Order: sequence, then structure tokens, then C-alpha cells
Amino acid sequence: MFEKFPKIELHLHLDGSVRVETVTELLHTNDDISSFMIAPSRCKNLDEYLTKFQMPIDVMQTSSNLERIAFELAEDLEKDNVIYAEVRFAPMFHTKKGLSMKKVIQDVLRGFHRGNVHINLILCMMRGEDFSTNKEVIDLACQFYHSGVCAVDLAGSEAKYPVMLYKDLFSYAKEKGIPFTIHAGEAASYSSVRNALQLGASRIGHGIHAIEDDSLIRDLCEKKILLEVCPTSNVQTHVVSSYEEHPISLLSHLGVLVHVNTDNRTVSNITLTDEYEKLFKAFSFTKEDFIKMNKDAIACSFLSLEEKQKLYTSFLSQL
Ligand SMILES: [Zn+2]
Repeated sequence: MFEKFPKIELHLHLDGSVRVETVTELLHTNDDISSFMIAPSRCKNLDEYLTKFQMPIDVMQTSSNLERIAFELAEDLEKDNVIYAEVRFAPMFHTKKGLSMKKVIQDVLRGFHRGNVHINLILCMMRGEDFSTNKEVIDLACQFYHSGVCAVDLAGSEAKYPVMLYKDLFSYAKEKGIPFTIHAGEAASYSSVRNALQLGASRIGHGIHAIEDDSLIRDLCEKKILLEVCPTSNVQTHVVSSYEEHPISLLSHLGVLVHVNTDNRTVSNITLTDEYEKLFKAFSFTKEDFIKMNKDAIACSFLSLEEKQKLYTSFLSQL
């Protein structure tokens, strides 16, 4: 029903979206490795979900593998009729065999450029990583800004590492003029979203715990901060108890800008088309709802004003 609908995707992890067949081939195995890469529909907890990233990360350590995996994601996005994507990953996870973070970024961008979908990278800083490595991520974002990289993010265990521990890094990003989104209000409470706003986040990854606080809802509406929502992933990691209880519909009715994303196409075993169908079934989201959602996503993307206008025209022409 929504296959042909033109889609924008803003919250998508490269290492969670690697084809199972590709990893099977790169590991030279005949075993069925799908259970190592695809999470069950209900994990025991977030930790179980996170174990599914290990195998793809193990093979994403050479230039040719990184380029191939990036290109294949571009192909998968094209099939899903995604017309613009902001794909994120943490370059420090791919240096185990000696590649520099800079080379890792170049390899991934080369893969994207071979595809037919306009893709920008968001570089993830990691919770629990040391200050200097995360600072280097911001410096690399500066080097590649407007040439393949559009922003930085903070990912990893939100419960263990509160966002305020990273205050100095976000001040540095601001000083350098690099915009950022932050994973917040997924595994921690609404106060994590409030803190992310205080630090200057332009968007929030997940952010669904904002539903617990009225004044925060008002702030999100006033500042037009978009929540990058990933409902299937939230059900899998027990952030919400069922799809029907997900707050995306309520947040949207309250006037918060929400946008639906897959988070991880392989780990969550989902396409964006599937996710639209699920919202249609659970909350009767209409085509008009998805049009609004994608218009908001374009407005809140990390593109330049000129690029946003071009994408907007292209989006409308494909409806
Ligand atoms: Zn995420």
C-alpha cells in the first residue's frame, strides 16, 4: 500500500542494516546466521537487541566491505522508495584492523555515492567512549561537513551514561557550527529529553518518554523539535509494551513533530514501507498523515535551505 510512497528516513543505523546474505558471504560460512543479526520481536532487554550488531561490525573493518555494505544499503533504500536518508554510524567501531576513522568515513561515502539515493551521514559519538575519541568525531564532522556528513549524534547506553556527561562535547560541536541530534528519552525518562534540548539538540532520537511531561511537550512544540520515532524497535526493546500502546499517535495529536523511521532495517527486520503499514493498521494513519510527517522531516533534516526546497519539490512531484 505504501511501497510507492516517497519517503524520508532520518534515523537509520548503518551497522544495524547490513544484509544477512552479505555477512554470510564475507564470513565464508554456510551456517544460518540470521538469528545472530535479527532480534526477536520481543527481546529480553535492550542488551539482547544490541548483541545483534556484533557480527556486522566484525566484518565492517576493511575498505571494500564498508563500501559494499554502504552501497547495498543505498540499493535497499531505493527499493523502499526512500528519496532522502540521513544514515548514522560510529566510525570508531570500524578501526579494529587499522583503518583510520577518516578512511572509514570516506569508504562509506564512496559506497553511498555509487547508489541512486541522496544520503548524508550522521556521525555518532558513543556513550562510554573517551572524550578525545568523541571529540575527534566532531572534528571529522567539520572536515566532511557539506560533503557527505551533515551532523553528529550521541548513541549507546542512555541509562548508564546520562546526556549531561557529554555537555562539553556538545558545546564544542556548537562552537564548530555542527548541528546534532541526541538519542534521548528511549531507555531513560523525559528528563533526558529535557537535558538534550538544553544542550542544543536540533532533533531527538526516539524521545518518546517526553509524553510523561506536559511542559516538555509544550517546549518541543514551540521549538519545533522533531522526534525521530522508531516504533518497531521500541516494542522489541521493551520501551513500550505493545505496538498499540506506542505514544507516536498521541504525541502527534498533541502537536509534537514526529517522524517514523526503521532504526535498524536488519536487526528489526523491517522496511519503512512495513513500518507505514503497521502505523496504518494500529492507529489508522492516513496518507495525509504521512505527507505531513515527511514534510516535517524535510523541514527538520540537516540539509541546507536550498537542498530542502529541492527535496520538497521532488517529494511533492512523486506523491
Ligand atoms: Zn538509534
